[in-house]
Amino acid sequence: MKYDVIVVGAGIVGLATALQLKKMKPTLQVLVVEKENKVAAHQTGNNSGVIHSGIYYKPGSLKAKNCIDGYHLLIDFCKEQNIPYDLCGKIIVATSESELTALDTIYQRGIENKLEGLRYINEKEIKAIEPHTAGVRGIVVPQTGIVDYKVVAQKYAEVFQHLGGELKLNTKVIGVKSAMSLLQLPLMLAALMPILLLIVQACIAIKLLLIP
Ligand SMILES: Cc1cc2nc3c(=O)[nH]c(=O)nc-3n(C[C@H](O)[C@H](O)[C@H](O)COP(=O)(O)OP(=O)(O)OC[C@H]3O[C@@H](n4cnc5c(N)ncnc54)[C@H](O)[C@@H]3O)c2cc1C
Repeated sequence: MKYDVIVVGAGIVGLATALQLKKMKPTLQVLVVEKENKVAAHQTGNNSGVIHSGIYYKPGSLKAKNCIDGYHLLIDFCKEQNIPYDLCGKIIVATSESELTALDTIYQRGIENKLEGLRYINEKEIKAIEPHTAGVRGIVVPQTGIVDYKVVAQKYAEVFQHLGGELKLNTKVIGVKSAMSLLQLPLMLAALMPILLLIVQACIAIKLLLIP
């Protein structure tokens, strides 16, 4: 079987990339290979489950844009697929006077990143929200939430396969070999140009050596 794109790794990044490719170009033959016997077996399945609001990132930076866009895409996907999530909010605290300047910077970034409902809280309010936390001043960030990323990754895999994508578990990439002539490469790139990302260019220009 020949594929247009092979994605290595069924963590959240590989699965989201593969799903997006299938949505953007349904005729594309996309394969995801994963060395483990399930998706989200590594970092994706072992993180803190926080849906980050983007408050920390420098306004206008790609990190801020990526985080905020991703936040909305994730919540839309959870709603669409009935995946439980909770926008429970979080508090960020300055544990001493010396951290107040840093706290103000974070607050300002949140405002510039257009987060809604941000507010400062005092020591007493911090204790009332989270008795196990001690701080001299805090910020409430209502947008922050929690989700089980294993469930999200599993659903990405299901939708991806439903759209015709292929997922091979227990399949480890052990090497890559160039398989294109100088003539073939520009033709292939031209055909895929509307959806090409740099990372995808790398994927299509290689032949992967797989073990079952
Ligand atoms: C302690 C900690 C807490 C975090 N908390 C959060 C959080 O609360 N919220 C948040 O948004 N982010 C959080 N993150 C970040 C987030 O977890 C990662 O950015 C994300 O999971 C990375 O996903 P990934 O798909 O790149 O990697 P992974 O989930 O590690 O997926 C990579 C996959 O590639 C497979 N693979 C590797 N080599 C091969 C090979 N040769 N052949 C085939 N398959 C292969 C692996 O088996 C694995 O399944 C946290 C990170 C850490 C370290």
